Amino acid sequence: MPKTAFKVDLRRPPEQAEVKTHNRWHPDIPMVETFKPGSEFRVECFDWTGGQIDNDDNANDIRDVDLTKVHYLSGPFAVEGAEPGDLMVVDLLDIGYLPESPWGFTGIFAKENGGGFLTEHYPQARKACWDFHGIYTQSRHVPGVRWAGIIHPGLIGCLPSRELLDRANRREAELLSTDPNRVPPLLAPPYADTALMGQMTGSKAQQAASEAWRTVPPREHGGNCDIKNLSRGSRIYFPVYVKGGGLSMGDIHWSQGDGEITFCGAIEMAGWIDIHVDLIKGGISKYGITNPIFRPSPIEPRFAEYLVFEGISVDETSGKQYYLDAHVAYRRACLNAIEYLKKFGYTGEQAYVILGTAPVEGRISGIVDIPNACCTLAIPTEIFDFDIKPNTSGPSREVPTGSDIAACH
Ligand code: ZN
Repeated sequence: MPKTAFKVDLRRPPEQAEVKTHNRWHPDIPMVETFKPGSEFRVECFDWTGGQIDNDDNANDIRDVDLTKVHYLSGPFAVEGAEPGDLMVVDLLDIGYLPESPWGFTGIFAKENGGGFLTEHYPQARKACWDFHGIYTQSRHVPGVRWAGIIHPGLIGCLPSRELLDRANRREAELLSTDPNRVPPLLAPPYADTALMGQMTGSKAQQAASEAWRTVPPREHGGNCDIKNLSRGSRIYFPVYVKGGGLSMGDIHWSQGDGEITFCGAIEMAGWIDIHVDLIKGGISKYGITNPIFRPSPIEPRFAEYLVFEGISVDETSGKQYYLDAHVAYRRACLNAIEYLKKFGYTGEQAYVILGTAPVEGRISGIVDIPNACCTLAIPTEIFDFDIKPNTSGPSREVPTGSDIAACH
């Protein structure tokens, strides 16, 4: 087992930890440790909310979660000799859950606090908890499904440069100004009050926190990409923007469907990641890199059979025609899948959570056939205990009446 370079203690709030996590991105966040190229080390991570969610049957904690405090990230780590213009080569050697915490959660976020891809249809906070059994997971809140995890960090990236920080802050401020009071908001602007700046303290930390990026979106440095195939066994090539690189990570997912559609749509957990680091000097210009690139893992759950739902870029409520809009088309594909799964006895919320958590494949299938984009959502049929394929006798109601994911009370 490689040396643990970052430890977390789930019995204490992250704010009281000796080596502090960070929940913002800024070029001046101090490195936790420097490793030579070729080093291996283990990084432990809180779940993305820093322990705000409990393993119980009440969604009040999802409804009330403080989203200005996320994501709790472990790092940053420097690689000796890394300079702007290089590529940091990061192998995710292995990933697992912390032995004292063999469970995960999925939230449907309230429209007033986070929202989600289908928030107009499912505006209330809800929660599902998942137990891990070896490589498999099951949920008391979502009967009839079981599958092997495709474990990955939802969030991993290197520190941004000062120039990149300023550039993204400008473009995001411009977007926010178009509709500053929207619910849910267009984006999360800098917010100093709950900022954790790692090992940076005092007035320097306060000043940096007022301009530091929130961790919500993916950007040129990587960040919160939420790519399910960035799983254990993958190799990622990160553009280096500051001296040392500054690799940080967190938001570990046991499993996730393409799009992570309920927003906290994956199976979220606390865990550990074994990392190997290396460098490609001058790699950014050698390979024409702007955003990270990666090679997926040779190990992923394999499914032989899928049922695929199509969606087109026509709004489901107004009937309005959109022009090649993949966002609308993917939403329609998801809604079509949910309506289908409801015929087997699932509530809409249970079906929504299955699409967020199971390894469903989302694709832009057609993007040139004016005026409709065509997006598809492929559900592996083998995750279900029962047959979900269409047949002449129609769907059998397999899900026990009264079963649902957790509501607020
Ligand atoms: Zn996540």
